[in-house]
Formats: sequence, structure tokens, C-alpha cells
Amino acid sequence: MEIKVHLSRPDITEAEIDAVCRVLRTPNLSLGPKPREFEQAFERYIGLKHAIAVNSGTSGLFLCAQALGWGPGDEIITTPFTFIATANIIMMAGAKPVFVDIDPETLNINPGKIEAAITSRTKGIVPVEVFGSPAGFDRICAVANKHNLTILEDSCEGLGSLLDGKKVGTFGKMSVFAFYPNKQMTTGEGGMILTDDDDLAAMCRSLRNQGRGTGPGWLAHERLGYNYRLCDINCALGIVQLSRIEEFVQKRNAVAKMYQQCLAGDERVAAPQVPVNCRMSWFVYVVRLADRYTQQQRNAVMEKLTARGIQVSNYFPPVYLQPFIAKQYGFRQGDFPVTDAVAKSTIALPFHNNLTPKEAQLVCRELKACLDEI
Ligand SMILES: *Cc1c(COP(=O)(O)O)cnc(C)c1O
Repeated sequence: MEIKVHLSRPDITEAEIDAVCRVLRTPNLSLGPKPREFEQAFERYIGLKHAIAVNSGTSGLFLCAQALGWGPGDEIITTPFTFIATANIIMMAGAKPVFVDIDPETLNINPGKIEAAITSRTKGIVPVEVFGSPAGFDRICAVANKHNLTILEDSCEGLGSLLDGKKVGTFGKMSVFAFYPNKQMTTGEGGMILTDDDDLAAMCRSLRNQGRGTGPGWLAHERLGYNYRLCDINCALGIVQLSRIEEFVQKRNAVAKMYQQCLAGDERVAAPQVPVNCRMSWFVYVVRLADRYTQQQRNAVMEKLTARGIQVSNYFPPVYLQPFIAKQYGFRQGDFPVTDAVAKSTIALPFHNNLTPKEAQLVCRELKACLDEI
């Protein structure tokens, strides 16, 4: 079946194409001026002292875990309802991910359940603004502060969102954004670390660049490092995309509104709500089927939609039940019941800046038709 409505599409204009082409006419495809320019634009936008561009959100989060000194013997609290990278970077650093179930309203980690998971080995917490929503982050931060836990904010889904006027990416000691093409803005692949801490920033810059220090000597390496640099081509794209972020937030809000209107009044499917005190920068648009539907029925609806050319996804299957994680830590289905109940009910609908009213109506019509059939 040919795809009629795509799950996601980047928003690229002539300005982005020109910016990339201009870099291609220079000899500096990497290690040129664009990465620092991109970082400075981010520092201004977020309002933090240091931005460090890296080649993916995952590598950014991993560098933060390393810079924070998380390693074997440490426990890091996080959410089981997220993209796999959130848990992976904890494991990549050699630490143990300790999952805490989510709040059924915010879908973010439940602040009221964090304390019970804290042990003498707990070093930090990695909260996620899942689907773009910073709901409940004030309470998450309060618990972390009370117990002296360092927050590494996985902001990879939240660029442009605000809680009480405060930007996502400013809640943690460090935070990371990601620029894969389905995110609010894209660099193809890429990520950005943000922090106000000089030492952590310097460490990330070194780790990103083969462990080089700030001293002279290109082949002087102070520590074990990586090549997680983001090249000038990606950064040129990112500079233009970031300059359009408010336009993106507005376009995405308009699409969310179209869906909300089309879905209103059908008790079989719940549209996501804009949480109080939040300005949403929607990452994806995830509806939930009513509780009475089973996971099998949800899967059947997804298959039917796909067969009709509507591209959908099941964001997110519980991370703790991914086979390699369940096996390593002995998790079983039911360990995080709120996550299970949410995960079995979700359908991510096609969602991007330029989704038309016609497309949104088609998606909703087909969704309702598929629900009629099960
Ligand atoms: C997208 C994403 C990442 C990182 O993604 P990359 O593909 O490595 O850039 C990390 N965490 C979450 C929650 C994400 O959605």
C-alpha cells in the first residue's frame, strides 16, 4: 500500500538548502565555523552558558552521563515510557537504570514514586518530556533537589515547550536536544548538550573530540574520547531550523488543534490534552484508545490504518520489557502497571508542520472507520 499520509516529515525551505550549499562551496565541511555558530544560537535561545553540538541526541546524553561520572555501581532513576536511548545511555555508561512508573496524566515519570526507588547508590535522575510535554517537571525537580540527585534532562522531545514560562532544557544540571528528522527541528542527525556548568561543558567538549584538551597540539589526547562531532553541513541546516522554531511550534499547535476538533465527541479515542501552565511544542501526536480496548485490538487498528495508507506508530512500548533489558534486570510484564496500561492504548498519528486540514480529516475518518470494524 502506498503511503497517503506520512507519520512525520521535515520542514525544509530554500533557506536551509542555500545554507547547506554555501557550506559545500567552502573547504570546511567539518571543524569549520558553523558548529560554534549553531552552539551560540542555542545558548541564546535556551539562555544557558554552554551549548555543545554533537552528532546525535544519544551521543549527547551519553557524554553527559560520562561527564557526570556515572558508572558501575551507580543507580540512575528514569522512566520506562520513553524512547530506548534514555535507558541505553545509562547502561552504556555502566550504571544501572532504575525505572519508576509514570503518572497516568502527564505520562512523565511520577514524582510521587521516585523516593521509594532511591537507595544509597542512587546518583541521578533522567526525566523525559515525553511527546514534548513538560507537565509535572516542577515536582520532579523538587524531589530530585530534596534528595540531592543530579538531573540529566532528556529534552530530546521537548524543544520549544515551556512550563510556567520556563524553557524545556533548563530544568536539569545538563540537558540534551536531538535533531533526527522527526523531531521539532532537524539537522539530519544531531544533538545539543546544554549546561551552565563550565567544567561539565569542558569535559563534554573534550570527550566529543577524541579526548583532546584545550591546550595546543592536535594530536595531544588527555583522556579516552570519541568522535561525536557534528559537521558544518549539519550545523548550517540547524542554524536555519532553530531560527524558525517559533514558526514550527505554531504550525504544530495548529495541526494539534485540527486533530482535537476532528476527534472531539468520540469516546473511543482520547486526544492528548495541553497540560496546565504549559506551552506545548508537540513532538508527536499520540491518541489513546479507551481502556476497554485490548492491546490486540489497538494493534489491529494500527494494521488497518497502515493498510489504508495512514502511517502510524505505537509510541512507546515499555522500555523495561525490551528483551535485552528485561533479561538483564529480571523485569516482567506488570512491574510498571501504569506504563503498561498507557503503552497498550497509544497510537501516534501522522504529525508534522505541514500536515493539511484535509489530511487530518482523512486520518480521523479512517481511524473512526477502523474502530467501527473491531
Ligand atoms: C529522539 C530521542 C533521543 C535521541 O535521539 P537520537 O536519534 O540519538 O538523536 C533520546 N531520547 C528521547 C526521549 C528521544 O525521543
